[in-house]
Amino acid sequence: MSNAPTMLILPGDGIGAEVMVEVQRVVDWVSGASGTPFTTETDLVGGAAIDAHGKPLHDDTMKKAFDFDSVLLGAVGGPKWDNLDFSIKPERGLLRLRKEMELFANLRPAMCFDALADASSLKRELVAGLDIMIVRELTGGTYFGEPRGITDLPNGERRGVNTQVYDTHEIVRVARAAFELAQKRGGRLCSVEKANVMESGVLWREEVTKLASEYPDVELSHMYADNCAMQLVRQPKQFDVIVTDNLFGDLLSDCAAMLTGSLGMLPSASLGAEDENKKRKAMYEPVHGSAPDIAGQGKANPIACILSYAMALRYSYDMPDAADAVEKAVQDVLAEGYRTGDIMQPGMKAVGTTEMGDTIIAKLKKAA
Ligand code: NAD
Repeated sequence: MSNAPTMLILPGDGIGAEVMVEVQRVVDWVSGASGTPFTTETDLVGGAAIDAHGKPLHDDTMKKAFDFDSVLLGAVGGPKWDNLDFSIKPERGLLRLRKEMELFANLRPAMCFDALADASSLKRELVAGLDIMIVRELTGGTYFGEPRGITDLPNGERRGVNTQVYDTHEIVRVARAAFELAQKRGGRLCSVEKANVMESGVLWREEVTKLASEYPDVELSHMYADNCAMQLVRQPKQFDVIVTDNLFGDLLSDCAAMLTGSLGMLPSASLGAEDENKKRKAMYEPVHGSAPDIAGQGKANPIACILSYAMALRYSYDMPDAADAVEKAVQDVLAEGYRTGDIMQPGMKAVGTTEMGDTIIAKLKKAA
């Protein structure tokens, strides 16, 4: 493969395939405008792969995911495949990608475009211009720790057990990813745990603190998770990058997401380890699912997936100018009042998936 950026595109099911059509147009624009053409290949995942191959991710597709610089995924799932055995459900394709690529750092930005500030459940002045990044550890902690399970006790009661466990390397690798992100953003990192009551939190805090000397340009702070939850709804703009474990990250990233309005606006990235060339395995995907209730109707908001591609430009391809241009085009289109159904407000201009793509491409062309 040449040095040109490569990306494996997995549109998936339902609106995943619809929004990806618009993303592909943005990819083509970036290729032309930046003079560094992207080599992309499209393949199947989820229900689409089940229909074609009888399983939600073909081994060849898995191999390609390793060969390409990054993966951009739409969404998987839908009623057609709901009754399949758990082991071959569409979601297993997604989980296999995350697991085999060892994507341990989940990045969930919470960005609130000015034009949508009134759609937040918080006051406009608290969220307008919000731009924070939550880095959640994705492959360890309470959701995977052993021992786990439900056992019968001699006294006739039952006991449910899950274990919060982190080894040093798991903390260090996700913290490094977060420090590096902070370097590319506002230079501030807040590490979140419960070191006041949990030994795993004490270790987390010690290991993150040790790393800080390697990143003198990043200002590190620590916060207990319960306080972080409160601060996110009290004064969210105080944060730049937050790094936290799997369980706290699950809760805090959903909380932060709702500051920004709609599911159709939320991108995400999952990153793995750096290879010898300092490149990380990465998969980018909108937070939303395949939305069977609106699939095939041309109503889906393509912005979450377009912003996921902008994250790829920033974090996998080191093309911050192109990422800025895409995010600015989205911001301008919203400021001019264009809205898909999910973010519709009174007095705004209703558009479908394709028109939203059209207006974003038009903005990109105009700004170039
Ligand atoms: P969903 O995110 O698909 O939809 C929830 C609601 O939000 C729906 O009303 C939908 O119309 C709306 N919505 C979501 N994205 C939108 C967009 N871009 N534009 C406009 N409206 C949007 O969640 P769900 O309904 O719980 O799940 C539907 C299917 O998607 C299920 O099969 C589920 O397993 C799957 N799913 C997949 C992923 C993924 O691929 N990462 C994530 C969540 C759910």
